[in-house]
Amino acid sequence: MNVNENTTGAIYLDHCATTPCFPEVVDIMRFYMEHEFGNASSAHVMGRRARHAIENATQQVASLIGARPEEIVFTSGATEANNIALFSSFAHNECAPAGALLCPIDHKSVLLVGKELARRGLDVEYLPVAANGRVKPEDVMTRLTADTRIVSVTHVNSELGTVQPVDEIAAITRRSGTWIHVDAVQSVGKIPMNVKKTGIDMLSFSAHKMRGPKGIGALFVDARIAARLRPFIYGGGQNHLRSGTLPTPLIVGFGLACQVVQSTLMQRQAKVTALRDYFITRLHQRVPNAVLNTDLACSSPYVVNVQFKGIASEALISGLHQVAISSGSACNSAELQPSHVLTGIGLSSSQANASVRFCFDPDLDNAILDTAIEHLVFRLNSIR
Ligand SMILES: *Cc1c(COP(=O)(O)O)cnc(C)c1O
Repeated sequence: MNVNENTTGAIYLDHCATTPCFPEVVDIMRFYMEHEFGNASSAHVMGRRARHAIENATQQVASLIGARPEEIVFTSGATEANNIALFSSFAHNECAPAGALLCPIDHKSVLLVGKELARRGLDVEYLPVAANGRVKPEDVMTRLTADTRIVSVTHVNSELGTVQPVDEIAAITRRSGTWIHVDAVQSVGKIPMNVKKTGIDMLSFSAHKMRGPKGIGALFVDARIAARLRPFIYGGGQNHLRSGTLPTPLIVGFGLACQVVQSTLMQRQAKVTALRDYFITRLHQRVPNAVLNTDLACSSPYVVNVQFKGIASEALISGLHQVAISSGSACNSAELQPSHVLTGIGLSSSQANASVRFCFDPDLDNAILDTAIEHLVFRLNSIR
């Protein structure tokens, strides 16, 4: 099976929600489940072999973001990585004046932690967001206080694709001695990211968003600050902040996915940009009143958010059996509330509820996109 085949036959344009594993990732994971199944903490030969495989994979994961292997903490995914980054930055019974500065259009795994930190008495502030989804570095500067311990921003927004100016924000936090955490789930492996050049203290990413397996992600913690964070899960002491037996097959699969995307990042980026541009051109021809919510001048080519005036996106999506798309983040779909990202950039509830997100993978092609658009047009006509 390749990326464009699945049991439903639907064309999959929801790669921001999750992606299929590269075939070689599945193969290597299978090998580590069946044959090299030792516990990496065991002293015997099988433990040593698992440990060696994990070390190799950790190197691949670290290399993708320009980090050192000892700065990688494996987690169950980015939700957990975001939780650790924020919770571990504060002592368990700490309260204001210490606090955090967040971005209101970020993922719920950041925002709901922020809400909980505020409930515990910490000072949690939010950055203003422009209509294109960008935060301004100047606003970070004016909102930072001597007590702000951590600023958290998402590199690429998962609903809009907007790229935040993390370089400039990191330069500001570096000068003030504040930590910066970046949720880079939608950028790692897709657009270049080097934590050392950018000056990032913590960075979350997830294997299943970049053609690796579900259930594994990583938090990069810069060696300079690692000793100042509190453990998130106490236990045997493996994996710094988060103890527990390391899942060798998942880590090895994650490592291989990182290696593949690292060695092909620029080609994949060029290819997906051409696909995205083709999709938008064709969509405008076939559905002239489609409005882009995404500002293409400052966004990732892997996602575009589109508004179909007067249409309820839920009705559009649920009856569109041949194309798998979402009206925002998968977690929001169950709630039937307008997306906090779209209302956060100033869209009305009805505009937000008329919007859907198309996410691309470089392994798609123009013919598949044409077919998807024809199904979409048919469905739009049948519900108008
Ligand atoms: C998917 C996603 C997450 C959550 O990642 P999981 O690994 O699924 O927990 C966090 N942030 C962003 C921006 C995402 O797109």
